[in-house]
Amino acid sequence: GKRSGKNCVRVFDPSITADMQEWNHLKNALKCAIENNELSVAFQPQIELRSGRVVGFEALARWLSLDLGHITPERFIPIAEAAGMIDQVSQSVVAQSLNLIQQWTEEQRKALYVAINISTHQLHDATFVSRIKQQVREAGIPCHCIELEITETSIMQDIDIALTALRELSEAGFRLAIDDFGTGYCNLSYLKQMNVERLKIDSSFVRDMNASNSDGKIVQAIIALSHSLGLEVTAEGVEHPDQVELLHAMGCEQAQGYYFAKPMPAEHVQIYLDPDMSN
Ligand code: C2E
Ligand code: CA
Ligand code: CA
Ligand code: CA
Repeated sequence: GKRSGKNCVRVFDPSITADMQEWNHLKNALKCAIENNELSVAFQPQIELRSGRVVGFEALARWLSLDLGHITPERFIPIAEAAGMIDQVSQSVVAQSLNLIQQWTEEQRKALYVAINISTHQLHDATFVSRIKQQVREAGIPCHCIELEITETSIMQDIDIALTALRELSEAGFRLAIDDFGTGYCNLSYLKQMNVERLKIDSSFVRDMNASNSDGKIVQAIIALSHSLGLEVTAEGVEHPDQVELLHAMGCEQAQGYYFAKPMPAEHVQIYLDPDMSN
């Protein structure tokens, strides 16, 4: 059995070693995948509800391994974070996003952005801000074409470091959004200091917002809070027309989800763009 104290004895648990073996296997495979450029990006449109137009795309990392098949970001991003490989993953996502933006016209660059997910480790890395600024500058792309999505949880990890990084990113011209809003413990008093322009309502509240009175009220409250602070709101995980209708009625500015489009390869993005902006 288990004993506490310094002579703690743990019962042999084969499932733990199996997990560790799988973790190590995936870690080594991910290292090769990065070296062989096996990571790609899928882009998911964000729609302005008022006009029905696409206003941006979220960049989502994809890994199709030759021997392991599709591995979801929910599995490989935590491994990349823990194993010190998240920078390389992110640089590949940023590079592929910049490639997409380079194909856009001047008009499209004014009106559209690509939203990129930033992990906790990156936000707290002192060199991150200058490196992403440089990567974007070298591509000749204005920073306002990039929105950075940062979760509440990663901001609260170390609020002072996070606030400094967010201020520097905002001063450089990046757009900022808080991701998965409502699931973490964001101290609301910090929201005003963060220079963010958008909150993304987590899909867990959107999923049942029409059926569940409490979820609907949470969505309504987040929208009211955002507007009182001058922020816009994007609802995530929108799958049904009922959700679109209710979100629009509640004053939510944007929505993203399978109802509009699934994440897609860069080659398919062009057909979602306004033809008026193509020349
Ligand atoms: P997230 O940032 O909350 O991204 C939204 C997730 O919801 C994506 O999952 C997207 O494919 C999925 N989704 C979009 N619309 C719908 C819908 O209508 N219904 C449902 N059920 N799901 C929808 P995905 O691509 O599997 O990514 C999962 C998570 O992995 C992301 O959650 C994000 O936290 C992380 N991630 C993905 N790419 C990156 C990356 O490049 N860097 C970092 N740091 N994290 C990433
Ligand atoms: Ca996100
Ligand atoms: Ca999210
Ligand atoms: Ca999420």
